[in-house]
Amino acid sequence: MSSLLNTYARLPLAFTHGKGAWLWGENGRCYLDALSGIAVNGLGHAHPKLVKAIADQAGQLIHTSNIYQIRRQEQLAERLCQLSGMDGAFFCNSGAEANEAAIKLARLYGHQRGIEVPTIIVMEKAWHGRTIATLSATGSRKAQAGFEPLVTGFVRVPYNDMAAVQAVAERNPQVVAVLLEPIQGEGGIHVADQVYQQALFQLCQERQWLYMVDEVQTGMGRTGTWFATEQAGVCPDVLILAKGLGSGVPIGACLARGAAAQVFKPGNHGTTFGGGPLVCAAALATLDIMTEEGLLDNARHQGLRLIQGLRAGLSGVTGVVDIRGQGLMLGIELDRPCGDLVKLALEKDLLINVTSDKVVRLLPPLILQDGETEEILARLIPLIKQFLEG
Ligand SMILES: *Cc1c(COP(=O)(O)O)cnc(C)c1O
Repeated sequence: MSSLLNTYARLPLAFTHGKGAWLWGENGRCYLDALSGIAVNGLGHAHPKLVKAIADQAGQLIHTSNIYQIRRQEQLAERLCQLSGMDGAFFCNSGAEANEAAIKLARLYGHQRGIEVPTIIVMEKAWHGRTIATLSATGSRKAQAGFEPLVTGFVRVPYNDMAAVQAVAERNPQVVAVLLEPIQGEGGIHVADQVYQQALFQLCQERQWLYMVDEVQTGMGRTGTWFATEQAGVCPDVLILAKGLGSGVPIGACLARGAAAQVFKPGNHGTTFGGGPLVCAAALATLDIMTEEGLLDNARHQGLRLIQGLRAGLSGVTGVVDIRGQGLMLGIELDRPCGDLVKLALEKDLLINVTSDKVVRLLPPLILQDGETEEILARLIPLIKQFLEG
């Protein structure tokens, strides 16, 4: 549409409605959704219990203000703290905003300890958002280019490289925190080794750095546990959530534990919309539905079927470099740019994504059923083979 600023090279397709893992296009075609609005629609489309929870809440109260108490927000904070081992939550409207809160929290934590230039260790290929501070923390020159001057106070190290972090620890006394994605999503589905996560966590404890995990994409059951960091057996100081949290309504959260939960005082941070009754009702319903329907188990089960099917169908195929991921967050790395696969998949009525130029990314809804998993494999594998042969 010509009245939109030119921020997206959009596919020529709009949808009218959806149901479960399926979306109907204006063109009358029915698409299998293996992307979930980029890890947002974990419950699929038009889940009746979610729809009812949102409609009921809209009929009672949509917005008041954070200058009053908000019961739905308190309930959601309590539930998320129970699930994650955190002590408190701040709610906002997106992943970038949740990371902004974490960055501000880490800086204030540093200043409260007399550190004048609080510095956060971030990773190569990291993705933390597009606001100026989160863009500065992001490890993509392509995303940053043209928006200089960037925010200072970040040191970048290679992912999965403990020696690099140790080297920073030795030469930089201003470090206050590490910010890590347990699996890098936008960066190309790179999985942090469990041993690395444990060593990083331990170093943070020794140095009194905050161990902050950006689970905007990996959180909320995406990898088969509520949070990916559980699988490494570590409990972070700061946990950042968004995407799947509200099943499509905009909500982000920055949760904190221990000393990190004591940093903010009234006046330090805030938001007009964040944590309103409507989005919190959607997030509470999401937690209920995920529990009732066993969606963590399902994410693990379907994820395993998918990755095994992909490996069976694509391993050894020339041009396939790697197949990796956890739960329903999977990547197929090819030896060449493969953005065209998105359009080729559309012709097969399949919605996928390509990130980091060469990585086919699958983020299907957590409600995926056996037959749908088979269908993704049946549509995708021949497509990738044809693409590589062609
Ligand atoms: C998507 C994403 C963000 C940014 O979230 P927005 O809601 O787009 O601001 C931050 N971190 C990670 C890991 C993400 O995947």
